[in-house]
Amino acid sequence: MIRLSYDLHVHSCLSPCAQDEMTPRNIAFLADMLGLNAVALTDHNSCKNAAAFFKAAEKTDIIPIAGMELNTQEEIHTLCLFPELRAALAFDDEVVYPSLMRFKNREDKNGKQLVMDENDDITGREPLWLAPATPIPLYSLAEKVKAYGGIMVPAHINRLSWGVISVLGDVPGDCGFDCVEVRGKEAVENLKARYPYLNECRIIHNSDAHKLDGISLPVNFIETEEKSAKGVIAALSKAAGGGRRAADGGRL
Ligand SMILES: [Zn+2]
Ligand SMILES: [Zn+2]
Repeated sequence: MIRLSYDLHVHSCLSPCAQDEMTPRNIAFLADMLGLNAVALTDHNSCKNAAAFFKAAEKTDIIPIAGMELNTQEEIHTLCLFPELRAALAFDDEVVYPSLMRFKNREDKNGKQLVMDENDDITGREPLWLAPATPIPLYSLAEKVKAYGGIMVPAHINRLSWGVISVLGDVPGDCGFDCVEVRGKEAVENLKARYPYLNECRIIHNSDAHKLDGISLPVNFIETEEKSAKGVIAALSKAAGGGRRAADGGRL
């Protein structure tokens, strides 16, 4: 097995709430300098900076992972991570972008949504506001993401806003996820005691960085069978202790 440090929740300057300094190139190079192995770009409801991130990452040793932080119909933030750039872009083009509410982004109120190339040049500005909820329900998201080879991971489940616990009051075991993101390692045991399904889940910790000094140091690790995005996604797909599949007698 290969032990990889990771940060799988990082926003670029495409997210209206992220700093302009979060260019795909800066993220790739800083993550590499910090010693991170696997880094996922997860902008709100969009993968439009993922291609530039991948190109920039070619000059580094990091494993780039394409994804997004999708805002479900219930206003639950959920990471969608894909083993290949092409699959992530297709998921965005075919599933997410056509479903976005047609609200124009107000740069003065919401922030800029910059589309960049790998050299830090601005190639466009996303006109639709990326932050609002999509019409995609949490209960149907896993299937949609899986159709593109990806996985969904409810984000910051213990956050007071946009987390599955604050919205649903529970961590449901029947939504098709085997991995969740928890803020703070110290919160895990208490959460497991209160929400039993977490004992069957893999739990990961990410930075949710919106500015460069928010990107994680290499303090979180995952064991993979191969040093690739595919390897990371496969490792995240394996729930703790056999997880829900084993508990259900392999029916799922
Ligand atoms: Zn979020
Ligand atoms: Zn986020």
